[in-house]
Amino acid sequence: MATIVGGIGSSHTPTIGFALDARKQSDPVWAPIFAGFEPVQRWLREKQPDVLFFIYNDHVTSFFFDHYSHFALGVGEEYAVADEGGGPRQLPPVKGHPGLARHIATALTADDFDLAYFQGKPLDHGCFSPLSVMWPHEAGWPGAIVPLQVGVLEFPIPTARRCFRLGRALRRAIESYPENLRVAIVATGGLAHQVHGERAGFNNTPWDKEFLDLLEREPERLAELTIAQYAERGGLEGAEMIMWLIMRGALSARVKKLHSTYYLPSMTPIVTVIYEDDSPVAAHETDAEYRVRIERELAGVESLPGTYPFTLERSVKAYRLNRFLHQLIEPEFRRRFLADPEPLFEAAGLTAQERDLVRRRDWRALIRYGVIFFLLEKLAAVVGITNLHVYAAMRGETLEEFQRTRNVQMLYSVAGQGAQLKQ
Ligand code: FE
Repeated sequence: MATIVGGIGSSHTPTIGFALDARKQSDPVWAPIFAGFEPVQRWLREKQPDVLFFIYNDHVTSFFFDHYSHFALGVGEEYAVADEGGGPRQLPPVKGHPGLARHIATALTADDFDLAYFQGKPLDHGCFSPLSVMWPHEAGWPGAIVPLQVGVLEFPIPTARRCFRLGRALRRAIESYPENLRVAIVATGGLAHQVHGERAGFNNTPWDKEFLDLLEREPERLAELTIAQYAERGGLEGAEMIMWLIMRGALSARVKKLHSTYYLPSMTPIVTVIYEDDSPVAAHETDAEYRVRIERELAGVESLPGTYPFTLERSVKAYRLNRFLHQLIEPEFRRRFLADPEPLFEAAGLTAQERDLVRRRDWRALIRYGVIFFLLEKLAAVVGITNLHVYAAMRGETLEEFQRTRNVQMLYSVAGQGAQLKQ
């Protein structure tokens, strides 16, 4: 079974990554940043976690306001470094852990948390700034991450209480994962700072110290505070401190503080803490009961004939192909696809099998492979056939045979106006 080896809290200011890239280790102004991370490096070396559950927020880099969510769980196989305006930092991509992420998604959903899922998105300084200083990566990262992006930028944002409760549910989720994984929970962000408006430059070191003290001893009190109270005490951007409550919620009621440093060089305090469990955590249900409960919603669906739920497993496996087909909503991509799909297959990095399935329009095999039906109907529209043709093909019937099973015979497609449909 997976175990939680402890929790890390860390600021995620871009200064940290900048200090590393600019090799400021021996500059007295910058040296305290590195000193603060040394115990974290040491602890990670000793504990050797296989996975870091990495709680951070994106800074309008990979997550935009066309679709903004509260808790976005990274379910993908790999995460690259994002370009935030001047080219991405020279860091290798870090592996994800789709198996653990899937399990956490199932467990948290059963506990009534509404998650979003993401993959194929690069991560910005919220993740890679602290990660690059705490984990060695010259010869590749020593383990994987499961990122959780918390939407703290567009109000209303999740409450502190919600974050704390999510941490509690997260602990149970991780500890019920059947593989022997060592998992550390890393929370990033804060502490008190504000970067916008006339209040830009606001800091509050006494509040930071009080926050750290309460986080260690009485986190429930921090869970009671409103976002406005966080903003008043710690600056509006400092309200991202609520993300630390997810980490704290995943640890035992009493924790052992192994390390804590605080350095306020410019706009944002650079803080690191390490906690380990220091009291037992009572479970309200046995492992077996818990497993049955979290699997309940989809239990039995696998035995339905000819049915392929679009699970995270299928989504991750067929992500490249689904993304390719999704581009068919763009007129220019459609035009190029119809003219000659081969260069597009190449550019998208599709496998030989994936290319073959699309070339042969093997609708049934595409579904079995992991393409969602609603992309098949787009492909059908582009190549000029109707939904009914696709339904018939998936059943292994001719159009006429399938039409005989319908009350009336009608043909339609999502092609929109001006579509030339084959009869
Ligand atoms: Fe931030």
